[in-house]
Amino acid sequence: MVIQMKSSAYWKRRFEETAAAAYTKAEEYIAALNREYTKANINIQNDLNAFYTKFATDNKMTFAEAKKVLSKNELQKFKYTLQEFKEKTISKEFQQEIANASMKTQITRLESLQMQIKGRADVLKTGEMYKTEELLSKVYENSYYRNVFNIQQGLGFGSDFALLNDKKILKAVNEPWAESDFKSRTGADKAKLISGLRSTMVQGFIRGDSLQTMSKNFVAVTGTSKNRADKIIRSETAHVTEAATYESYRETGVEKYDWLATLDTKTCENCAMLDGKTFEMSEYSEGETAPPLHANDRCTTVPNFGDNAGGTRVARNDDGSTYKVPADMEYNEWRAGAEKR
Ligand SMILES: [Zn+2]
Repeated sequence: MVIQMKSSAYWKRRFEETAAAAYTKAEEYIAALNREYTKANINIQNDLNAFYTKFATDNKMTFAEAKKVLSKNELQKFKYTLQEFKEKTISKEFQQEIANASMKTQITRLESLQMQIKGRADVLKTGEMYKTEELLSKVYENSYYRNVFNIQQGLGFGSDFALLNDKKILKAVNEPWAESDFKSRTGADKAKLISGLRSTMVQGFIRGDSLQTMSKNFVAVTGTSKNRADKIIRSETAHVTEAATYESYRETGVEKYDWLATLDTKTCENCAMLDGKTFEMSEYSEGETAPPLHANDRCTTVPNFGDNAGGTRVARNDDGSTYKVPADMEYNEWRAGAEKR
């Protein structure tokens, strides 16, 4: 199947549709959000049970024992020298120790997500929210972030700790998919694609799934081809991400932002040209002054506070490895340097 490149007019229209919002009635919106949280909770619980079962089997314990051990944070932290590490890697016990710790990390991640989802669901139950902004402020007022922080501190898994991206989740629930991607489809087929897409995206954002995982899930629920799913998921994720970003900028009073293209050789000419360009929020327009510019666009934006100098950005070699360059280096400058390397 041929996928047409989306024009900038298309993305502009999408942006306006998103701004108009699908669920005009607050109750419908909250009900939809509730359904997604419930679903995410069940899925995460299933994953947790699978981890407990595997941990029990690996360590020759019962399910209940495994749960107990894992909840006690009893697993040791790894503080070995390189030499010790090399010596230890050959032993079977050590490999199991690593496997256990890695499992514990994933379980902690899932548990923290579950706790955050519970927090959201509790807020929804009060029935006080009418607008996304109100919902978000209620969510942030709650104290469970403190709990999340405590768990994180206790375990020392700081960097890749899971935090729900509320704006993206709320956007995805509220996105008028029906008006956008599947115009040519009819009846049951169209309904299936739309509900499959919404659920895949929302669940993916809640869990922090990769694009590949989301695409796989979309194929599983709709039976669409992998190629088509990849393209839809990638461009829809870009769209929702940018729409959420726009709102964050607006709410936090950002006046200017910079275009940020990916520094690798796959970046297209148009995006490369825009890299590092500064735009006013008043001229924000998806598909023109803001990404996505085209299908499979990997560009994003960063707020410009007038003093963006300093810091670094990531560039990618053809073999996929990454390295850092100064934050104010633009695409063409990077390309010229990369060719000389
Ligand atoms: Zn781009």
